[in-house]
Amino acid sequence: MEDTDLIIIGAGPTGMFATFCAGLREINSITLESLDTYGGQMLELYPEKDVYDVQAVPKTRAKELSDSMYKQSAIFKKRTEFNSKVTDIIPIENKKFVIEVNGEKKYTARSILICGGVGDFHPNRLNVEGEDKYNGKGLYYSIKSVDEFKDKTIAIIGGGDSAFDYQMLLSPVCKKTYIIQHNNTFKAAESSVDAVKRDSRAEIVMNTDVKKIEGDENTVKSLELFDNSSKTTKTLNVDAVVIAIGYKVNPSLFKSINLETDKRYIKVDHNYKTSIDGIYAAGDIANVSDEPKFALIAVGGAEAYIAINNIKKYLSPNASLFGGHSSSLNL
Ligand SMILES: Cc1cc2nc3c(=O)[nH]c(=O)nc-3n(C[C@H](O)[C@H](O)[C@H](O)COP(=O)(O)OP(=O)(O)OC[C@H]3O[C@@H](n4cnc5c(N)ncnc54)[C@H](O)[C@@H]3O)c2cc1C
Repeated sequence: MEDTDLIIIGAGPTGMFATFCAGLREINSITLESLDTYGGQMLELYPEKDVYDVQAVPKTRAKELSDSMYKQSAIFKKRTEFNSKVTDIIPIENKKFVIEVNGEKKYTARSILICGGVGDFHPNRLNVEGEDKYNGKGLYYSIKSVDEFKDKTIAIIGGGDSAFDYQMLLSPVCKKTYIIQHNNTFKAAESSVDAVKRDSRAEIVMNTDVKKIEGDENTVKSLELFDNSSKTTKTLNVDAVVIAIGYKVNPSLFKSINLETDKRYIKVDHNYKTSIDGIYAAGDIANVSDEPKFALIAVGGAEAYIAINNIKKYLSPNASLFGGHSSSLNL
């Protein structure tokens, strides 16, 4: 087993900034990410959306922000291991932990910073015929590239914010968009619903279930729909379908340790320390009890900064808590 001082779990925005901060504070660390790429929610859920509320960046595509953050995380040549899901954390003697990755005991570490966000993402499925066959072949659960939809007729399944956000993102490049909702209500923001209603190339289909996804060997060609009001079946010709009916998330909790939680968060104090010495948590996964949570990129970054400086002090009690200004470095 490889030994290190700190394991950072997750390479979303919080974990990436924590990785950079670990470099600033000269902490020997390894970052582990269960997906095959960095970026967390930014890259998995909204890579083509613009983000406006990160300091010093007036406007940027989420995937570009993600790339910049990864570049910054690698400045101190810290290792990030992908396809590495932390499946357990096992306390051992000398205040250390064994970190189990993909079911195998792989690392020992004196401290851990959990930046697991909302956990592992698994998009909710429609569970209809054709869904597996066309996954990635005209059927998508998120939008990685708007260009892929250029001049196409697409159906977006769902009635929440994601479905409406996708429609507004894709409509400018698409020939036509449909929003198909299984009942008669939307969970999306009223302003988004109004915007789609005003879009002359959009059609909203209510109270309708998708029964089957059909196509040829290469791609989706049509959907079989069932109208719950008229009790009739019809075929809708489309070039692509985006299923936006939410995500199942498995929060990153570990069976060999008993981390205190509060609602869906790992409970932390103002130093981002959890209920277990040596284990810290920051970003979307963590919250100080009873305080409102601001689940934002910039906030996760600030939390990572505070957590890492406290971890430095935990690992080296004689070190100062504040690591100084980066502007005094010459990198
Ligand atoms: C549609 C949408 C739009 C948004 N827009 C904005 C915006 O404009 N501005 C803004 O500031 N915020 C926005 N947010 C919120 C922002 O994306 C989150 O606050 C941010 O991603 C949280 O970062 P994180 O690193 O804490 O968690 P995440 O981004 O969730 O990253 C966590 C990472 O940890 C990994 N992981 C989880 N468990 C394990 C494990 N056991 N082992 C290894 N890896 C693990 C996951 O795979 C993931 O990569 C938006 C969110 C959504 C859904």
